[in-house]
Amino acid sequence: QPSSSCETHHVFRSRLPEIPISNHLPLHTYCFENLTQFPDRTCLIVGSTGKTYSFSETHLLSQKVAAGLSNLGLKKGDVIMLLLQNCPEFIFSFMGASMIGAVTTTANPFYTASEVFKQLNASNAKLIITQSQYVDKLGDAGDNYPKLGEDFALITIDDPPEKCLHFSVLSEAKETEIPSVSIDPNDAVALPFSSGTTGLPKGVILTHKSLITSVAQQVDGENPNLYLTSEDVVLCVLPLFHIYSLNSVLLCSLRAGAGVLLMPKFEIGVLLELIQRHRVSVAAVVPPLVLALAKNPMVEGFDLSSIRLVLSGAAPLGKELEEALRSRVPQATFGQGYGMTEAGPVLSMSLGFAKQPFPTKSGSCGTVVRNAELKVVDPETGSSLPRNQPGEICIRGQQIMKGYLNDADATATTMDVDGWLHTGDIGYVDEDDEVFIVDRVKELIKFKGFQVPPAELEALLVSHPSIADAAVVPQKDEVAGEVPVAFVVRSNGFELTEEAVKEFIAKQVVFYKKVHRVYFVHAIPKSPSGKILRKDLRAKLAAAASS
Ligand code: ATP
Ligand code: MG
Repeated sequence: QPSSSCETHHVFRSRLPEIPISNHLPLHTYCFENLTQFPDRTCLIVGSTGKTYSFSETHLLSQKVAAGLSNLGLKKGDVIMLLLQNCPEFIFSFMGASMIGAVTTTANPFYTASEVFKQLNASNAKLIITQSQYVDKLGDAGDNYPKLGEDFALITIDDPPEKCLHFSVLSEAKETEIPSVSIDPNDAVALPFSSGTTGLPKGVILTHKSLITSVAQQVDGENPNLYLTSEDVVLCVLPLFHIYSLNSVLLCSLRAGAGVLLMPKFEIGVLLELIQRHRVSVAAVVPPLVLALAKNPMVEGFDLSSIRLVLSGAAPLGKELEEALRSRVPQATFGQGYGMTEAGPVLSMSLGFAKQPFPTKSGSCGTVVRNAELKVVDPETGSSLPRNQPGEICIRGQQIMKGYLNDADATATTMDVDGWLHTGDIGYVDEDDEVFIVDRVKELIKFKGFQVPPAELEALLVSHPSIADAAVVPQKDEVAGEVPVAFVVRSNGFELTEEAVKEFIAKQVVFYKKVHRVYFVHAIPKSPSGKILRKDLRAKLAAAASS
């Protein structure tokens, strides 16, 4: 149980005033509340086909799916699993489930059968909505797994294989047949799983109240922190099965009336073409995408002048990389959001995105969202720290999770008795209320007791013109305990030696942050949510050391 000191003196708040938030409503009611202002505007654009759905069509299809789910026997509190790439059916299913008080758990369609079934069992879902290409692995996974038809049902959005239903059983139901349910603000509506960067993914219970609060903190109020309008087209290439895209892209756009451009996966050429064709105005990205946009020469061949706002989140983004991308979309406001599944997910957001924006610094993760409190605590003593002193970031407000799924112990170690969620991230708040993330507590490398944040070295490495990508992890060392070592991907056609890389870093950092070894590789492992999988690289080092 993290201690919650009584002398909490240093609490940070948004520069924006508190606002009333309609978090007594069910999530779907809140998201579609402004529908009558823009019923015929485009809500969803399917990137691959150009097909569009207006707001009223999106609402109607969600209602039909709600009725269809109910016809199949789904009731309030039941869980469905979406195993989908970004597509309109994702939205109809998520909102439809909300309308009958059901809960959606989202998973990565590239998961193995065993990963899917772990989440299916944990969440107690009995219905999976997916694409036919993923049915094989689920239908015939082996004796130890749930059985299709007996333990769970499958619906596919395309031609259904044997034993599967087609999505039309949902989308062609009568919207008048939605059962009336009473939804409590504290009922679960979404059950996302955290990324699994530090261990196994954890099921996170988000309620109607938490998600409404989080969306409102971003797009509501006279001066919204993230100003979206019905003129905007928001890029949705980040997977909707991750909470960043689900919340800050989809739900925020629905609420604000912005169009959402759905892309099933990231391909640089297709992405650039679609941005140009649909005049994308808001680009929600993650650092690996920033890297591609900043470094890939193809970018020069496209018109990206429609982009007015670039939002990066989910993982640390160095100043150098941010500036490199800025020079390619000079007209755009660039900023970050800082999120964590358990936090609903947004803790802080750039005030450069506000309707009346504030000046911001590059490298900052924004300012704590409104109607919330943020503090930075000394991990040793638990006492809160003043400005500019790094410590563990904690957040409090109605947006945070109800708890982890079936894990009271983990819940109790993450959320203290006073309602503070402890993030495990080290960061600080500066004199202008901007939040800077240093790195995760768990990722810090300890060189003779000195702390080395790998994210800082990675940012320096990728700023080198001959380095396409990089990751830094600790390697055991007899003298220092741990030393930082780098995995480096060379840019096409560039010569680069280990010595050159080491020297490049050494001349920019204090002695204990020097890189001790460089391993050249072809790619850096990353999660679909945009994080470097340092645990995989650490395992690779350990395996190499023991062989
Ligand atoms: P797990 O908890 O299962 O190990 P995870 O923490 O990667 O996985 P998410 O909830 O997707 O799962 O990610 C939250 C984390 O992402 C934060 O705790 C933080 O470390 C990182 N993060 C998010 N946004 C930013 C940002 N703008 N800058 C730096 N780090 C960020
Ligand atoms: Mg986490």
